[in-house]
Amino acid sequence: MKASFRLAQDGVYRCDGFQEFFWQTHGFGTRNASPNADVTLRQVHSGRVFNARGTEDRAEEGDALVTDEIARSIGVRTADCVPILLLDAATRCVGAVHAGWRGTAARIVERAIERMRADFGTDAAHIYAAVGPCIRACCYEVGSDIAEQFEAATRKANAQGDRCFLNLAEANLRQMRAAGVMDQRIFDCGLCTACQSAQFFSYRREPTNPGRMTTSISRLA
Ligand SMILES: [Zn+2]
Repeated sequence: MKASFRLAQDGVYRCDGFQEFFWQTHGFGTRNASPNADVTLRQVHSGRVFNARGTEDRAEEGDALVTDEIARSIGVRTADCVPILLLDAATRCVGAVHAGWRGTAARIVERAIERMRADFGTDAAHIYAAVGPCIRACCYEVGSDIAEQFEAATRKANAQGDRCFLNLAEANLRQMRAAGVMDQRIFDCGLCTACQSAQFFSYRREPTNPGRMTTSISRLA
């Protein structure tokens, strides 16, 4: 569902749907500011999920982190790929997911939810999810070889032939629903990094700019 995300005074977006959970803090970074992340991964567009406990910052190659540790934030870096934050309202474990098209094809968000179940006993019905700024179908043209891997791709015919556009956020929403997350607990900011490049880094728009935005979540209690 569309939910309100607020750009706070510190230059970071926060999801209103998470704010009732006083025991966590989170943020989606922009060009101007990013929230702190104590543990991140060397991201490789994979389906690999790590439990952050005992994991040092940037020590492992993977694309999602889960944790139940207090006061140790976990994060991902993106510039067009989909950043997704997960929280379990019952057990208070949290997750941070980096989902580009390869990670989405590898079902990284589903694997993160599965890891929360395995490590912390999470029931997907208790999960709240927030989808941050990413490249949207308006701007994300892909080859037909990539498009055919996703139901969330659309084809638009024009004089030059078919052009394919991929809705990566939607592909991840479908995976979360299929994993048992309730639709009304999934919040998507709807913001496009490529359309709004004044506010966000976009790899598609500026391939030579190495800027990345950090998205993180931390359990506080
Ligand atoms: Zn766009």
